Amino acid sequence: MDSDLRDRQRPESTGAASSAEYDALVIGAGFAGLYMLYRLRGLGLSVRVLEAASGIGGTWYWNRYPGARCDVESMQYSYQFSDELQQEWEWTERYATQPEILRYANHVADRFDLRRDIELDTRVTVAAFDDTTSRWRIETEDGRRMSAKFCIMATGCLSSTNTPKFEGLERFAGAVYHTGRWPHEPVDFTGKRVGVIGTGSSAIQAIPVIAAQADHLYVFQRTPHYTVPARNAPLTRDVVQNIKANYAQLRNNAKQMFAGIDFHLNQQSALDASADERRREYEARWQHGGVTFMGSFTDLLFNKEANDTAAQFVRDKIRETVRDPAIAAALSPRYVIGCKRLCVDTDYYATYNRPNVTLVDLGGAPIEAITATGVKVGGKEYSVDSLVLATGFDAMTGALTRIDIRGTGGETLREKWSAGPRAYLGLMSAGFPNLFMITGPGSPSVLTNMLPSIEQHVEWITECLAHLNKHGIKQIEPALDAENAWIVHVNEVAGTNLRSTCSSWYVGANVPGKPRIFMPYIGGFPAYVQKCNEVVAAGYAGFTLS
Ligand code: NAP
Repeated sequence: MDSDLRDRQRPESTGAASSAEYDALVIGAGFAGLYMLYRLRGLGLSVRVLEAASGIGGTWYWNRYPGARCDVESMQYSYQFSDELQQEWEWTERYATQPEILRYANHVADRFDLRRDIELDTRVTVAAFDDTTSRWRIETEDGRRMSAKFCIMATGCLSSTNTPKFEGLERFAGAVYHTGRWPHEPVDFTGKRVGVIGTGSSAIQAIPVIAAQADHLYVFQRTPHYTVPARNAPLTRDVVQNIKANYAQLRNNAKQMFAGIDFHLNQQSALDASADERRREYEARWQHGGVTFMGSFTDLLFNKEANDTAAQFVRDKIRETVRDPAIAAALSPRYVIGCKRLCVDTDYYATYNRPNVTLVDLGGAPIEAITATGVKVGGKEYSVDSLVLATGFDAMTGALTRIDIRGTGGETLREKWSAGPRAYLGLMSAGFPNLFMITGPGSPSVLTNMLPSIEQHVEWITECLAHLNKHGIKQIEPALDAENAWIVHVNEVAGTNLRSTCSSWYVGANVPGKPRIFMPYIGGFPAYVQKCNEVVAAGYAGFTLS
């Protein structure tokens, strides 16, 4: 890399905090930030990674709630950029627990000597583009300033927690936990009455574990979610060896799949199958476990009638599992399965057979109030000692709009995105030159296995920066018409998919006042990668280089 991209005053990579100038600043030290750092170093750039938390790992640093684990299989939810890494790391379970994934992230940081360029406990509050110097000025919560030619947001899609404004929450006398900000000290619910608010993926994992410990558990459900069994199990040596012997093949297969996950997608339409064939297919996938249930038939997310058959199968399972028919009915969703993200559980529905678990179905109504001693619903107060808010995230945009990001002419990203996020390929936004997003809105991101999606974005950005350097280009940003056309395309594709038809965090429905836009790109990982590659092959078509 020649001096064009590099700073005149290259700081030493010593870990010392500074008000220095860098070639690139990366915000966030989760899986995206770690790999971005590794790649930028490979280009010979001076890089600093700024991380708000006291440790690396991003979402896996924060989400320590009981039962937290990934619902993408561990052999696939891992980096593939280094064959040595994927060969040497030993996952122990089909679905890795949060502590194991966090150990993996730390192993990666050590193995590639990444820590010396990461500043922990450093929350970025401002990122402003200076039109005169063409540099990004960064300010941190503790008053430090730095600047860089490139600013890369590795801030995560599900990192900005959503705490609804429950009337009286501040008066609650007991402990309040958010699943996305779980304490580092062990939380013991023994002998306690616990209230869990929410029934999304986090709650569905936490509820069976908390129920086994607590004196009594009240689950406050606004909307039931569909969940399928994980069938988690230890990974056997044979399975691991087999995958490792053919890892490249598995990774390549995964890249051909819509979600970037290698699994068998049945190419048949649910409506072409007989009722018996459908039942056999759903049952086989239910017994196998995991999100690949949605691959039972090819049209489950495109045809409501087809979708109804899968939804009904799960409702039947709920009725078979939950002894009290009224509770089974309350737990049974009536909307499109897979519309809200499909959850994966261990013993979730069976937990409602326990005598110490009460489902409080809000029936779509709001929680009236939190009192000093409990939760008030429909005029009745449920006394609890501890409250668990499993209320999710200000997804996809929250981590970005919470930072005061200012582009050319002082325009803020918040203003620009006030009617919904606008970004070309989910990678860059017009008016914000040299600012990249990893798995930003408008990219497949949360609809895919995040690890390959992160790697694809990091590699695209790396190649882009190498291109700029090679050609002496100082600045890149999307052309407005290309960005607008991409957003039209993102919306058009969303309109063809049943996933856009319900209230979910995909459309921002969980955060009051957030514009309702289907934020991720639902055209699938292969189509998206092809588009990104075509853009590069055409000389960064749709971008303005100057
Ligand atoms: P979530 O899916 O957004 O669920 C939040 C829950 O809180 C929903 O049940 C929601 O009800 C409820 N809620 C929100 N505001 C409420 C209010 N004012 N009153 C009552 N209830 C309220 O959040 P999450 O469970 O944290 O999961 C978010 C995403 O993180 C997942 O979809 C997944 O992508 C990821 N995740 C993955 C895993 C995994 O890999 N296993 C685990 C956890 C999370 P409504 O449905 O009515 O809005």
